[in-house]
Amino acid sequence: MGPARAKLLTDELHVSTFGDLLHCFPYKHIDRTRLYYIHELTADMPFVQLRGEILSYEEEGTGRKRRLVAHFTDGRRVIDLVWFQASAFKWVRTTYPAGKRLIAFGRPNVFNGHLNIPHPDLDDADTLQLGKMGLMPYYHTTERMKRGGINSRAMERFTKTLLQKLGFAIGAAGATPAGEVGQGSGGGDSAAAALFPDYLPPFLIHRLALMPLAQSLRAMHYPATADELRRATYRQKFEELFFIQLNILRFTRQRQLAVSGHVFARVGAMFNTFYHEHLPFQLTTAQKRVIREMHADMRSGRQMNRLLQGDVGSGKTLVALMLTLLAIDNGFQACVMAPTEILAEQHYATFTAMLSAMPVRVELLTGAVKGKRRKPVIEGTRRGEVHILIGTHAVLEDAVEFARLGLVVIDEQHRFGVAQRARLWDKSRGAAAGGAASVCYPHVLVMTATPIPRTLAMTLYGDLDVSVIDELPPGRKPIETRHYWQERAESLYRGIRAEVAKGRQVYVVYPLISESEKIDIQNLEAGYEQWCRRFPDLRISKVHGRMKSAEKDAEMARFVSGETQILVATTVIEVGVNVPNASVMVIQNAERFGLAQLHQLRGRVGRGAEQSYCILVTKYELSRETRQRIDIMCQTNDGFEIAEADLRLRGPGDIEGTQQSGTAFDLHVANLARDGQLVQLARDTAAEVLDADPTGTSAEYAPLWRHLAALGKDAIDWSNIS
Ligand code: ADP
Ligand code: MG
Repeated sequence: MGPARAKLLTDELHVSTFGDLLHCFPYKHIDRTRLYYIHELTADMPFVQLRGEILSYEEEGTGRKRRLVAHFTDGRRVIDLVWFQASAFKWVRTTYPAGKRLIAFGRPNVFNGHLNIPHPDLDDADTLQLGKMGLMPYYHTTERMKRGGINSRAMERFTKTLLQKLGFAIGAAGATPAGEVGQGSGGGDSAAAALFPDYLPPFLIHRLALMPLAQSLRAMHYPATADELRRATYRQKFEELFFIQLNILRFTRQRQLAVSGHVFARVGAMFNTFYHEHLPFQLTTAQKRVIREMHADMRSGRQMNRLLQGDVGSGKTLVALMLTLLAIDNGFQACVMAPTEILAEQHYATFTAMLSAMPVRVELLTGAVKGKRRKPVIEGTRRGEVHILIGTHAVLEDAVEFARLGLVVIDEQHRFGVAQRARLWDKSRGAAAGGAASVCYPHVLVMTATPIPRTLAMTLYGDLDVSVIDELPPGRKPIETRHYWQERAESLYRGIRAEVAKGRQVYVVYPLISESEKIDIQNLEAGYEQWCRRFPDLRISKVHGRMKSAEKDAEMARFVSGETQILVATTVIEVGVNVPNASVMVIQNAERFGLAQLHQLRGRVGRGAEQSYCILVTKYELSRETRQRIDIMCQTNDGFEIAEADLRLRGPGDIEGTQQSGTAFDLHVANLARDGQLVQLARDTAAEVLDADPTGTSAEYAPLWRHLAALGKDAIDWSNIS
């Protein structure tokens, strides 16, 4: 191809080598052996193929809406073929003049009560050999679909030429007839098989009945049968996930060898006194279990790297607090990091209140802790007098040094970048090296209330062990979630009045702080005034991200103490805020928020013994996807169920936290939402391979390691996490 098309291929389809092209698989295949008559067509058919001729062309509509219409007949009936933007499709008229025998291929559509076929593919019926077309590949195409762009047909020519030159057996006009491809043998591809020896170990191929590599490469593009395509896809998906898991597990194991963890052998006075004398309630069974799991890590001599997942309100903070006591019992300091000042302050308040009767020094370090107040915190931390340092990113500053940092807790991790986690590791190194033979790092506990589906966690946090709190403290009433149209909010105000009369408090969340010219959505400033007018007798607080932090704190404190009854806020309150007396969460323009965010916001209520409500207010017109989001929220309170739905609806690329993780989510064939079981299989088999060849030196696995290394240049760089 010429340089212009080559550039298009590279820029838009990321294909710059033959290898790229070989792996640029079609996103679907369509069976093109079947012909339909026009009278058989219905609007819900995915794709159909007609044989006939164009009677005449005409153009309809004006300006940019001008369409090119071809009246097409199969000899019995007539249907319209339609191209929007007529000016761009002049070439259709010249290439396929009326009277020529054609095959039209496309998706039927209903327009003004009649069926038509927009933007069909046309082919010369006398040269197109339908019998040989079989399953026709559909490729992603470049944006520019006019002439000069690369459409699916052009991609088909490129891949076909490439595969043929590589010695794969493809018929001139289509796939190999079914009979030529022997079960699992890759029969017709034998010439190419030598070029693509399989790098997966034979025992795996055998056990999982995987299609050989060479055959799968051909069949991904030009399958002989639907079944061959299915098996090829399975192999490609498996190997994609397998190499990701192999990479993660190899990294994790290397780290375990190179790094040791402080040994917290003792369960001492701090832990025991708190547990037996100051704990205001019984731990849930799940809390006890995760504390045991983590203590086992901390005793082991290996460094703990654990992700604690638990739905909002499941009591993760308390678990963290008890672990910090274990650290202190063993002569270490602990550091608790939160993503926002509000949350750091709240943790500080919780910790100091819970530990008030114990000889433990807890300090707070955020951007707001300045000058005279800051110095003693930093010095106390360096000298080891501060037992627990709670803070925001401020704890990452160079000035902050620990005498003996033994445990790092990172709350609501999705707000922390991987790089920031890495800085904490570095920070502790100097303090911890102290003559030990191998590097000794503090234990790391990452806590998240955004439940992540297992399959995603295995990839996103693949280097972490996972503990789950799957139980809420007793006595909680499930939150009732209701959907209101914006236009009918009147009854909503009555409900709120009733709750406030019972002494409860109310959150109202807006997606925007102030008016925006571009989008017509509710904003906090205007909303605040409305609430003030509506409830002149109530006290109303206002919190948003553009306020100075002292101001924000003061307003927040007024709400926490119960002085104000309504808190009008942006999503600054999304994470962690704990006011058990608040029983209503109103979310304005709920259609603007993702599922994870809605669930987080809802988690701000239902923290006391009272019945709580979450009110989702939306505009009237909702997209299908938004409608589904709202329905899911109204149906379930289970964070894991919501996370699964989120993954299904949006795909993993958009899930919070995944953006930062680089190419691990750039999956080509597999789909974390749909191929969950395959992720588990990939992880198990990767572990098995690492067990069989821990040093990566066995001849049997040499092709595998070579392939992993070749992938490595593109793979996520896990090493910068440690
Ligand atoms: P999250 O997991 O969302 O961080 P928190 O740790 O903030 O949850 O806990 C939510 C509330 O539940 C807090 O008020 C906390 O004191 C309370 N809590 C935690 N564990 C228990 C328990 N075992 N029994 C009763 N209440 C608990
Ligand atoms: Mg929390």
